[in-house]
Amino acid sequence: MGGAPRDRRHRGRGTRHAGQVHPELEAALAPLLADLDVSCGVLPLVDDKSWQDDPDAASCWLFSPDGTGTGVWIPTGQREVEQVVMLADQVQEWAVESLWMLDRSASWPACPYHPKRHPLAAREQAEQAVWTCPVLQERICAVGALSRTRIRRRKLRHHA
Ligand SMILES: [Zn+2]
Repeated sequence: MGGAPRDRRHRGRGTRHAGQVHPELEAALAPLLADLDVSCGVLPLVDDKSWQDDPDAASCWLFSPDGTGTGVWIPTGQREVEQVVMLADQVQEWAVESLWMLDRSASWPACPYHPKRHPLAAREQAEQAVWTCPVLQERICAVGALSRTRIRRRKLRHHA
């Protein structure tokens, strides 16, 4: 699977277009933006300018606060769970680079069991896109529900 188009990354002011992000891409992006909002501290400016010619792909750009754009995409017509999992990897890449540029911890979303060791990994489990600890293979929460895991984090300290 092709990831973010590093070679097509461009710097700029992130001109927003009047059009709309493809509805499937918008739907897949929504839970990830919600998770970024509650736990990352940096949100992208979403530019609907598509960079893929493939009619079976929906793409857009995520711009960092410093004006760097990263292309993300999903194959259209697939199950939403697959789209979210695939997009999660790309959004994580964006988040890590954006945080790094801000001199912040470049691990997102942090694993509540191993906060300093690795980020969570998006997987499909029981027909749902979920964040998992890649070491314990344990489900942490649904993608889009990170805000609710903060409550659990206090309990998890005992396991750390
Ligand atoms: Zn972990």
